[in-house]
Amino acid sequence: MNRVFNFSAGPSMLPLEVLEKAQKEFVSYGTTGMSVMEMSHRSKAYEEIIFGAEANLRELMAVPDNYSILFLQGGGSTQFAMVPLNLMNKNNKADYVKTGQWSKKAISEAQKYGKVNVVASSEDTVFNYIPTLDPSKFDKEADYFYMTLNNTIYGTHIPDSLIPNTNGVPIVGDMSSNILAERYDISKFGLVFAGAQKNLGPAGLTIAIVRNDLMGNAMDITPTMLKYDTHAKEKSLYNTPPTYSIYFAGLVFEWVKSLGGVDAMQKINEEKASILYDFLDNSKLFKGTVVKKDRSLMNAPFILPAEELNAKFIKEASAKGFVNLKGHRTVGGMRASIYNAMPIEGVKALVEFMGKFELENK
Ligand SMILES: *Cc1c(COP(=O)(O)O)cnc(C)c1O
Repeated sequence: MNRVFNFSAGPSMLPLEVLEKAQKEFVSYGTTGMSVMEMSHRSKAYEEIIFGAEANLRELMAVPDNYSILFLQGGGSTQFAMVPLNLMNKNNKADYVKTGQWSKKAISEAQKYGKVNVVASSEDTVFNYIPTLDPSKFDKEADYFYMTLNNTIYGTHIPDSLIPNTNGVPIVGDMSSNILAERYDISKFGLVFAGAQKNLGPAGLTIAIVRNDLMGNAMDITPTMLKYDTHAKEKSLYNTPPTYSIYFAGLVFEWVKSLGGVDAMQKINEEKASILYDFLDNSKLFKGTVVKKDRSLMNAPFILPAEELNAKFIKEASAKGFVNLKGHRTVGGMRASIYNAMPIEGVKALVEFMGKFELENK
C-alpha cells in the first residue's frame, strides 16, 4: 500500500485506522449481511448507527441538551442560505464578520433575504488577519451575528477566546474546516455548522448544531427541506439522509474519542501547527502569509520569493509524496492543510523536505 501525505484543503485526508475499519465492514456490516450503503435508513441497525454517531458528537463537543444536532446535505454552502431563511425572522437583518471567501459567499447569499451589516473586514490585506471586533459597531437588533471560525483559504482562525459578547444576539459559526479540531463552548452560539469533508469524513454530509428556541420561525418562503425544524422533529430522518457519510463520520467520532477527545486533538493540532510555523518563522526562503497571532491550526499558507520557485517546490514535493500543496488561486504559493487526520509524522516529514529544498535553492 502506497499512501501519500495528502495536504488537500478538502476533501482531505482521513484517518487510516478509520478507512481500514470501514473497509472491513464494507461488504457486510455486523450481522446484517449487507453494506451500510444497502441498508434502509429506517432499519434498527441504521438507527443504532445514526443515533450512536449523534450521541458521540454531542459528548465530544459537549453540546448542551437544549441544542439539536442535525445531519443534513448540501454542504456548508447550503447553510449560507439556510441560516438567513431560518433566523432572519424578527428584524430582517444580521451582522456579518468578513474574513474570507466563505464569509463573502455567506454575505451575498444572506443579502437575498434581508439586510447585512458587515461589522468588521480584513479584505484590505487579502484576509491575512482577523479584524478587531468592536461591539459598538454591532447592531443590537440584528437577528444573528455571523462569523467564519476557520478561514480555510487564507489560514486564519477565530478561537473560542475571541468569540464576542453580542448581548443576546445569537452567534452563528461556520466550523466547516475546524470542527473537532479545537475546543469551542457551544453555549456561546445559537448555531454552528460544518460540511464533513474537511475534518469529519466523506463529502455529502453537513452537520448543524442548533439551539432549539431558534427553530420553527423560518420565513414563509423557506422550502420544507431547508427548515431546521423539519429535520430536528424527525431526528435527521425526515427523508433519506446521507447514510454512508453519517456512518463514516460516526467512525471518525469514535477515533477522536479514542485519542482523548477534542481537547487532546487540539493539543496534537497545536503541536503540528507549531512545527510548521516555527520552521516558516526561522526560514530565510519560505514565508508564512498570515499575521502570527491569527494563524489557523488547520490551514497554513506560505510562499517562496519567486513564482518559479513555488512551482518547483510543488512539483518536487509531489514527487516525494507530499501532495495537494498548491495554494488557493486567490493567494498563490502553497497551503498545507493539516486537519485532524494528518499525523504529526506527516508535518515533520514535510518540514524536513522544506529544509532540504531551502538548502538546495538559496
Ligand atoms: C469548504 C468550506 C465551505 C463550503 O463547503 P461545501 O461543503 O463545499 O459547500 C464553507 N465554509 C468553509 C469555512 C469551508 O472551509
